[in-house]
Amino acid sequence: MPAAAARRGAYRLRPIAGDSALGTPAFHPQVRTHAELTLPGRARAVALTFDDGPDPDFTPQVLAVLRTYRVQATFFVIGENAAAFPRLLHDIAAGGHVVANHSYTHPQLTTLSLGKVKDELGRTSDVIERVLDAPPRWCRAPYGEWDAPSLRVCARLGMEPLGWSIDTNDWARPGIGSIKRAVTRGIEPGSIILQHDGGGDRSQTVRAVSDYLPRLLDKGYEFVRPHV
Ligand SMILES: [Zn+2]
Repeated sequence: MPAAAARRGAYRLRPIAGDSALGTPAFHPQVRTHAELTLPGRARAVALTFDDGPDPDFTPQVLAVLRTYRVQATFFVIGENAAAFPRLLHDIAAGGHVVANHSYTHPQLTTLSLGKVKDELGRTSDVIERVLDAPPRWCRAPYGEWDAPSLRVCARLGMEPLGWSIDTNDWARPGIGSIKRAVTRGIEPGSIILQHDGGGDRSQTVRAVSDYLPRLLDKGYEFVRPHV
């Protein structure tokens, strides 16, 4: 491991309190009081997000649709899935998409001890950094359930929290039409759309995205990666 990476790893493993004298992370986010639910500024800019992967069946299908329309998205990966399928992390990153942290085993962070929260988020960042050579900059708590301690851990690990404004409920497999309607009726400049590429059969999600993407592109929507 290069020295810089070793220092970053060490930084993450140190206790939260009193770590100001430790190595310098590349990114210094503020400790947030909540996760942003929409994107700032830019007219017609919206963000597609996919949670709970990577999945060997459905992540490649989502990537193929995004590639067809030259659209970039953010993938909030579960650490244990990322560790099991590192090649899929490479495939996501190679498509120009953002690989982000969605905890290691998908627990509700607000029910955990501080040590466990650090473990869930820290281990996932470590896997992503080991595979892609760069730590994630974005994090989404499972179920969007943040509290002050978990937001503090998020910031100390060099990440910004990201929420969503449109929940497609695609995880419940409500039907392709229902997923599409949630997006096309709810979308407005700054929308962050929550969908899933893992955690079950996501064929409805894949079909819905491939149907609504060209329509929204025709309407002038621009699909962007979150940025600070
Ligand atoms: Zn999730």
